[in-house]
Amino acid sequence: MPSVELIAVGTELLLGQLLDTNTTHVAQRLAESGIDVRATHAIGDNRERIAAAIRSALDRSDGVVTTGGLGPTVDDLTKEAVCDALGVGTELYEPALRQMEAFFTQIGRTMRPNNRKQAELPAGATPLPNPVGTAPGFVAFDARGKFVACMPGVPREMKPMLSERLLPLLRERFALGSAIYTRVIHTINVGESEIDHRIDDLFRAGENPKIAVLAHDYRADVKIMAKAATGAEAEASIGPVQREIERRLEGFVFGTDETTIEAAILCALESRGEKVAVAESCTGGRIAAALTSVPGASKSFVGGVVAYDNAVKVSELSVDPATIAREGAVSETVALEMAQGARRRFGADVALATTGIAGPGGGSAEKPVGLVWIALDSSEGPQAWRFLLRGDRSAIQSRATTAGLGIMWRRCVGKERSPA
Ligand code: AMP
Ligand code: MG
Repeated sequence: MPSVELIAVGTELLLGQLLDTNTTHVAQRLAESGIDVRATHAIGDNRERIAAAIRSALDRSDGVVTTGGLGPTVDDLTKEAVCDALGVGTELYEPALRQMEAFFTQIGRTMRPNNRKQAELPAGATPLPNPVGTAPGFVAFDARGKFVACMPGVPREMKPMLSERLLPLLRERFALGSAIYTRVIHTINVGESEIDHRIDDLFRAGENPKIAVLAHDYRADVKIMAKAATGAEAEASIGPVQREIERRLEGFVFGTDETTIEAAILCALESRGEKVAVAESCTGGRIAAALTSVPGASKSFVGGVVAYDNAVKVSELSVDPATIAREGAVSETVALEMAQGARRRFGADVALATTGIAGPGGGSAEKPVGLVWIALDSSEGPQAWRFLLRGDRSAIQSRATTAGLGIMWRRCVGKERSPA
């Protein structure tokens, strides 16, 4: 198995100003491809130190993958450092220069000499074209045949370059036979421990495929990982396990892999021909934001109100002021009236309402921080659920959002179970 070290370049990383998501992503994708990531490093924008890091990594491992420092500014020094480490000069890579010129013409700006620098690569390097941005990446080799692959720091540019250019190149160079294939089963309305209880014998069944449960804020995923030589072989190993897990978690599985809960809800609503509206207090519009993040949401999502102040609950959703006075804004009845009001107001088939105490202040013994009422109104009548959510303000808001989406999803797929 070839071994690789990763170097994330950027002073911001060392100052704690930027979260190094590139390393996580690259490490994951390399591991899936059967490449052993032996170490990861973060180095500032310093030519000598980057070159030294590359040299010492190449002494230990078969290759180095860097991200960052390929831009046009003076602090972008990765390419120069690679040249130093390998003892080569740079040469102009014409296609990148032409792509850059075309790009600048298109946006109506003049290209500066420092942009030209981006079209230069270490002599003899193999370019990794950048379909999304201007700076190409490259793979350079040393005299021993060890490689240094450099990609831009911008994740949106780095990711496609990695999967479409670098990984195929490495697979071929190292004749990588097997890779790790994964399938993620997404669940909602069920706790991690309940999942564990239902499938724990499958955990212990073996190493290939391997199963892991990953808990998120009020959601959980079951990940199945198989080591296989081909996609078909992986499917043969993953498929039966996936079907067994889905059977045991029936009623909680909303999709696999790239599917999101909001996409699953909108898909279900569309197939039922139903429209949905929301009335949000403690979630402050997060449920509407989640639903509208899905392309084509307008087919089923009508709209909503962020009814934060009591006066807005009354004026926009026709919540009875007497109810608020008697039971408080965070109460079952107010949640129900908010949902009913939103359904009427927006002419929707289904309406969801949230009201709760996100904290850190405003809690009491009777109504502690984290108390959230979520109500749903539809032609089957209104119904409300009480949640006591843990965490700080943002965790409570995000969990309440997921809980709300979970209720909406269960309603859309027609399962009548109480949420976890
Ligand atoms: P650079 O190519 O080093 O000039 O980086 C350009 C931009 O890419 C930075 O401003 C960050 O927004 C992003 N970036 C660079 N390195 C990383 C990293 N390791 N993880 C996430 N984002 C990064
Ligand atoms: Mg930079």
